[in-house]
Amino acid sequence: MAVTDLPICPGLFYGSRARDGVLSRMRIPGGILNVPQCLAIADLADRYSTGYLQVTNRANLQVRTTDSAIPPSIWQDLQDLGLASGCVEIDPIRNIMSSPTAGIDRAQLVDTRLLVKAWDNHLQTHPELSELSPKFSVGFDGGESVSIGNLRNDILLKAEINSHSTIVFRLFLNGKNTGITVELSECISALAALANTYLEYSKYRPIVDRKKPRLRHLLADWGVENYLDRVENQLPFSWCKSSIELPHRAIEPYGHLGTHPQQQSGFSYIGIALALGRLKSQQLQSLANLAQNFGSGILRLTPKQNLLISDIPYHHVAEVEKSIASLGLHSSATRPDSCLVACSGSRGCASAATDTQSHALKLAEDLAQKLTLDRPINIHFSGCEKSCAQKTPIDITLMGIKLDREQEIVEGYDIYAGSKDSPFGRQIFRGVTAVEMPGAIEQMLRVYQQFRESAESFGEFADRAILDFRFLDWKIIQF
Ligand code: SF4
Repeated sequence: MAVTDLPICPGLFYGSRARDGVLSRMRIPGGILNVPQCLAIADLADRYSTGYLQVTNRANLQVRTTDSAIPPSIWQDLQDLGLASGCVEIDPIRNIMSSPTAGIDRAQLVDTRLLVKAWDNHLQTHPELSELSPKFSVGFDGGESVSIGNLRNDILLKAEINSHSTIVFRLFLNGKNTGITVELSECISALAALANTYLEYSKYRPIVDRKKPRLRHLLADWGVENYLDRVENQLPFSWCKSSIELPHRAIEPYGHLGTHPQQQSGFSYIGIALALGRLKSQQLQSLANLAQNFGSGILRLTPKQNLLISDIPYHHVAEVEKSIASLGLHSSATRPDSCLVACSGSRGCASAATDTQSHALKLAEDLAQKLTLDRPINIHFSGCEKSCAQKTPIDITLMGIKLDREQEIVEGYDIYAGSKDSPFGRQIFRGVTAVEMPGAIEQMLRVYQQFRESAESFGEFADRAILDFRFLDWKIIQF
């Protein structure tokens, strides 16, 4: 395979050409990396790129090589290390998602790591599934406090306790609860039958909007019930329907940053913030060494584009925290760069109106000099309305646009807050240039700091502020 033209998503065996190089993406099931894998990736980044790596919002790892894709001669080495799919055809299928704290989370009902492995093995041994849309995605939620249950997956299996006090998995399709539960031992058969039936649909309707059909197209055409009936015909067991309402679980999206006790008594994990998921090869190498010397030799990439070092004995935590700081990294959730999200922007995507990543980093730098935050603030930059990097608005969303300023076309943003009124939240500023943008965000944060209720998040504040006369200033600070 070869370097492709935009806008095809990159993989390892087929980089995507971007404005500043070729992007190759390694699929890391569940985001879990061991030390030899980290060292090989760091070496790869040193040899073929500018030395930077980036964790993606599906806990993949991507490397931007300077002028050509990763040479095929090293694919075999990466496959031997488990960093590349043994089955090349499967490589484009989306990474399998699970909680980054699977197996160590104190709230978990079940350790999903074996399920991730088993489903990856199934994919590797069924190359015919490469006929599915590469966006076909599966996630496992084991009931961890660091949940992935609210992130987008075509199929999500979410652990719960049923009326017989047994742990089962609730089936969600395209984010919707089907009311069906399966036992742990049935999960892979159920997923295999769901995927096979989706494959049958893909043969019947091979192209939708010039692309392979997504699972949502199947659900729209066949309906959920009909799809599930067809799947059930392939299963050695019948679907179990549950009428139990799932309890609401409060999710703290950045609750994994910082130091936290594990399920294993006497051990902690440390969540490290990476601005836009970026880290240098030397940082990866050093973190792998820390994991080797003080942990169990494992790094966990998160779908929030950060990473964790796990299994650190309590008496070594302070030393590891100090070492992390000496690498120029931190584990605070309240710095402006901690909860920053941006799509690839104009450097990597032809649809982008703005250079989202540079603007996001510049904003974080600017805010760090002017404000001290005491709550995580999620600031999401999107180069167009597709919102590839983050589907759910939380605090602040900036959507890239082109602006005509005195007959010159410049980059700018419409700025939204909270989650009400539109897919991006409520519009606060319209048509702010990239230069004006940091000042606008600073104003929003200062109003929040002045008028919020004590434990209120920025998003909660923004959702109610316009309804409250006390926040008149909030309404009139429009350009
Ligand atoms: S949100 Fe738009 S600009 Fe950003 S990567 Fe997706 S399609 Fe490209």
